[in-house]
Amino acid sequence: MRYISTRGDAPVLNFEDVVLTGLARDGGLYVPETWPQMSKDDIRTLAGKTYAEAAALILQPFLGDCIKPDEFRAMTEKAYGSFAHKAVVPLSQLDDNDFLMELYHGPTLAFKDVALQLLGLLYDHLLGRQGKKVTIVGATSGDTGSAAIEACKGRDAVDIFILHPAGRVSEVQRRQMTTVLDSNVYNIAIEGDFDDCQAMVKALFNDHDFRDQLGVSAVNSINWARVMAQIVYYFTTAVSLGGPDRPVSFSVPSGNFGDIYAGYCASKMGLPIDQLIVATNRNDILSRFFNTGKYIKEGVDPTISPSMDIQVSSNFERFLFEIYGRNGADIKELMRQLDEEGGFSVNMAQLNEAVFSAGRCDEQETLETIRQTLAESAKLVDPHTAVGLKVASDCRRDQTVPMVTLSTAHPAKFPAAVEKATSIHPELPSHMADLFGREERLVQLPNDLATLQTYIKERARILDAA
Ligand SMILES: *Cc1c(COP(=O)(O)O)cnc(C)c1O
Repeated sequence: MRYISTRGDAPVLNFEDVVLTGLARDGGLYVPETWPQMSKDDIRTLAGKTYAEAAALILQPFLGDCIKPDEFRAMTEKAYGSFAHKAVVPLSQLDDNDFLMELYHGPTLAFKDVALQLLGLLYDHLLGRQGKKVTIVGATSGDTGSAAIEACKGRDAVDIFILHPAGRVSEVQRRQMTTVLDSNVYNIAIEGDFDDCQAMVKALFNDHDFRDQLGVSAVNSINWARVMAQIVYYFTTAVSLGGPDRPVSFSVPSGNFGDIYAGYCASKMGLPIDQLIVATNRNDILSRFFNTGKYIKEGVDPTISPSMDIQVSSNFERFLFEIYGRNGADIKELMRQLDEEGGFSVNMAQLNEAVFSAGRCDEQETLETIRQTLAESAKLVDPHTAVGLKVASDCRRDQTVPMVTLSTAHPAKFPAAVEKATSIHPELPSHMADLFGREERLVQLPNDLATLQTYIKERARILDAA
């Protein structure tokens, strides 16, 4: 498989280089040159397979000959062996034809583990054989940092430095990061807010000497391997509900459009999907787009579903590339308009992707949905999942089609909102029950770039002098 940039002006790469490169040199994102096809018979053969077996089968075509099938099979086995539920991504039933896809059984209790657990292994495998290493640097306001740390801890080819704003992440979120004591993991509390952290990371990336010397890399959601890993659960879930012989609908709590775009990729590969529902909180640029054709930047309001508080969606460009007939020049022009004019619009006819519907859910509705789901289905859900459930019920066209809402985080990850809605304090799962008793390790640094650079330089291992 070869990969091309959405802006049409960067080298064509193989899987290995795409995973290690991230953003394309022309500013675009890499996508597969063609969509591998799964026939109905191919999809039927997934029935009865374990999650790790299904992942290896579905994803192999994306790897080309970069990784041997038996090696990759061992990686999916290891990645998904770290999940607390044997089914990895189990399905639970809320009502006659309403289901929850539980994506939160990984080490940090949010769906990002599904992709990052595999990405960590891919890094080790691909870098190790090139005799190289990377220094991951990232800023987090909570979720992504812990998932990245869990994915990279103890890996030979990776050192990871994660910045968080001192005193401004929840205690669960901080402890999920700082109680990982492996020697290649560095937690840095910055005396500032999240924007200060992000500005420093950006400055590090723009310092090309520093970047090249340490092999600085990011694990953000534009990495193709992350999207790719998320395709799997659309297939496995559909098959467990009668697919491919019966279409299924999915409602996806969305922010950077990575998760739902993976569902779109599954449909491009041949999975019959009736509706793909884009569910947003009040930061609703995506929902406005699918209802009006206009993609216009606004500010960001903090919400109780913070992992979806975004201004623009970094993976959206990949979807635009498809609806513009894979014309890179068009995408370049749209992105110019977004930068310089704050937005763009597309012809609704161009948006004839009938598979998508979209809606938004405000704060009060989120709390009400958490309360109602507990009352009616005896299930405690987190605020992100609640957004998905509410928009699913608003946008659903056909009651006879199974509706699967993606449950993207465990309720114990967002205890304040859950408790406010239900008066119940959600308990951490047993494998994390001692989180508050574990040893923490972190340093606190001032909001100063030079101090941070020195700190990283003194600690990051450099294997490859070339
Ligand atoms: C990241 C995240 C989302 C949003 O996913 P995208 O791929 O960015 O659309 C939703 N819910 C939770 C809990 C998340 O951590």
